Amino acid sequence: MKLVLFGPPGSGKGTQASLLANKINIPHLSTGEILRSKLDDKDELAQELSKIMSSGNLVPDSILNPIVTEKLLSNHCKSGFILDGYPRNKSQSDFLINFLEQNSIDLDLVINFTTDIDTVKYRILERAKIENRSDDTIEVIQTRLDKYFSETQPLANIFKDKFKGKFFEINAMQEISKIESEIENRLKNA
Ligand code: AMP
Repeated sequence: MKLVLFGPPGSGKGTQASLLANKINIPHLSTGEILRSKLDDKDELAQELSKIMSSGNLVPDSILNPIVTEKLLSNHCKSGFILDGYPRNKSQSDFLINFLEQNSIDLDLVINFTTDIDTVKYRILERAKIENRSDDTIEVIQTRLDKYFSETQPLANIFKDKFKGKFFEINAMQEISKIESEIENRLKNA
């Protein structure tokens, strides 16, 4: 199963991706998680990433694209993947669509998590108390949401056109278990 998830920060797509990854035993590729793991290296790249990520801005494509393609081509992802947090802008989207075509990789599902802004702000602030993330403050959340609405949200329409019949929207304000079962039902028919 090969899936791409869209949705604003705090929409719960990471939670659903982990649940699903465990259930069907395929890797969850969260670009946010991959980048956060690089912060531990404490090298020059880590310093650059830390500066960008703690401000809520997007990491340059020149860093992200090779990381994502290396993962997608690895044996680990041969039987499938759940891509979460990528693509995030038009150039990443063009790059990914081209990469999938070049490597004859077919997506099975594209899921767009929809929710209202107040709900995501509340959820991110709650998460901040638990995870202690440097980008979960109210100012940085606003930057991340601005980036989402200006750069990422328009990509859902591109994927909707490109992957007709495989794209669906999910109301991310529902209970976790309800969202989980809606996704499962879609997977059965994918
Ligand atoms: P996330 O955990 O998905 O909210 O990502 C946390 C941060 O990592 C984002 O605010 C960005 O700074 C960076 N990031 C994650 N994915 C991407 C991406 N596809 N393109 C650029 N930056 C990203």
